[in-house]
Amino acid sequence: MFIGFIVLASVGILAWVMTQYKGKPSSLNPSQRATLAKYAILYQRLNKNDQRKFERIVAGFINDKEWRGAGMYVAEEMKVMISACAAELLFGFPDLVLKHFTTIIVHPDTYRSPVSGRMHQGEVRPRSGIVMVSWRDFLHGYAHTSDAHNVGLHEMAHALWFENSIANGEENFLHPELLQDWIDHADAEIERIRSGKSRLLRSYAGTNQPEFFAVAVEYFFERPKDFKQDLPELYATLSAMLRQDPAAV
Ligand SMILES: [Zn+2]
Repeated sequence: MFIGFIVLASVGILAWVMTQYKGKPSSLNPSQRATLAKYAILYQRLNKNDQRKFERIVAGFINDKEWRGAGMYVAEEMKVMISACAAELLFGFPDLVLKHFTTIIVHPDTYRSPVSGRMHQGEVRPRSGIVMVSWRDFLHGYAHTSDAHNVGLHEMAHALWFENSIANGEENFLHPELLQDWIDHADAEIERIRSGKSRLLRSYAGTNQPEFFAVAVEYFFERPKDFKQDLPELYATLSAMLRQDPAAV
């Protein structure tokens, strides 16, 4: 009986340690760090201190997620690059991992969504906490770094937008007054886009507030100087909200 208690207690302690470990930031191994150094453009531009910070965000994100391939093997490099994409957005919030989104599903190519019936490059499913992305399109986004088309950033932006309003201990990280400013400016710009008078963003940004945010994030990281010049109020608000200024890098 006593031995049984010790065994049970040991199992309990082990389970507790594993729970504590899961999702906590850790460090990258040398091969993961080499992947960032080789492929992650933003990481390459950072100073040493910021590179360490970026690595911690990537490590935290990788460890927090369940990674699944849709008919494919999800290689370690894919996990690093998708996590690096999330880390771009989370650079101003190094303790966040978008924890509502527990699962990342990687498709080899565009896929037909059973929800919409249409071909998708990626999507977020807030109800089931899933982010999906087509690896081919993800790579395409990073192969053309100044066309403001980046499905990885787009879907992570959706995840961040949802995460901010899901009560799970990570919510309300976007400053409420800045967020309200953003929504007000976005409403006005959405009207302009719908009447064919967009100042910069592609027409899809006029769909609704979440799509406006996701498209704006693509421009924010891929064409920051144009964004700052053409939409100065929106750029300043987004920069303050995300606590970073890519136009200054
Ligand atoms: Zn979208």
